[in-house]
Amino acid sequence: MSASDGRGALSVDLLEAAIRSEGKGQLNIGKLLRACAVSVTQSAAGEGGFPDDREQLAQDLLALSQRLKVSGVPAEISDRVALASQLVAQDEQSYLDRFPDPYVCRGCGSITGTVPPPNCDPCGAHALTFQRFAPIYWLGLYSSEEVLHRLEANPDLLREAIQPLAPDRLDWAPQGTAWAATDVLSHLRDAQSVLAQRITLILDEDDPRLEFKAVFAWTNQQTEETESGEEIMKSCVSSRRSSVSRLREIGPE
Ligand SMILES: [Zn+2]
Repeated sequence: MSASDGRGALSVDLLEAAIRSEGKGQLNIGKLLRACAVSVTQSAAGEGGFPDDREQLAQDLLALSQRLKVSGVPAEISDRVALASQLVAQDEQSYLDRFPDPYVCRGCGSITGTVPPPNCDPCGAHALTFQRFAPIYWLGLYSSEEVLHRLEANPDLLREAIQPLAPDRLDWAPQGTAWAATDVLSHLRDAQSVLAQRITLILDEDDPRLEFKAVFAWTNQQTEETESGEEIMKSCVSSRRSSVSRLREIGPE
C-alpha cells in the first residue's frame, strides 16, 4: 500500500483514536475505529490487484525488510522478512522452524518473533496481552465441533454452486491463468485428499511428519482432463464423508 494518498496516515490515526477511546472505557467506539483501520488498510492494499510475479514479490519483500529495519522493529523480524525474500526468490517453502508465530503487544505495538517474555520490554504489559499471529487464523476461532460441521456442510454448498451449470460451462476457463470450475473442483478434491491423509497420519502415528503439499500447483500441472466435474465432485464428497466419519468416531478432546 502506498501511504502517499493519506490512507496510511488515516489508518494510524484511526488506531490511535481507538486506543484513546478504549482508555476512556469507550470499548464500542474502540472496536468501530479498529475495524475502520483494518478496512482502510486492506482495501487500499487490494486496489492495484495482487500481481502474480514471484521475482517481483521477492524484490518487494527485500525492500520491505529494509524499510522495517529503518522503522525500528527488532532485527530478528526484519531479518526474517529478508529470509522470506530469499525463499520466494528460490521458490522454496517457508517452514515453521524458521518462521515461528510472531506476537505483537496490544499495549505498545512492540513485536517479538517468538513467544513473548513474561512482561513486555517497552511497556511492561503481561505476556497474555500479546496478540499471536498464527498462519491459519480459523483454527484459533472455531471449536472442533464447528470445524466438523463445516467439513460436513461444504459438499452441499458445492452442489448448489455446480448444479445450475451445464457440463460445458464447467470446463470453460477465463483467459490467463484463471481456473475453470472443474479446476476449482480438482483443487478442492486435492485439498481434501491432503486432509484425509493427514487425519490418517495423526490418528495412526505418534509423531507424524506433516509435510507441505503444493496443492495449488497440482491443479496447474494437470494437463489431461479426463474426468467430468460431476465425477470429480462425487469422489471429493465421498472422501470428505469418510474423513468426517473417522473424526466423528473420536471424542472432541
Ligand atoms: Zn508493550
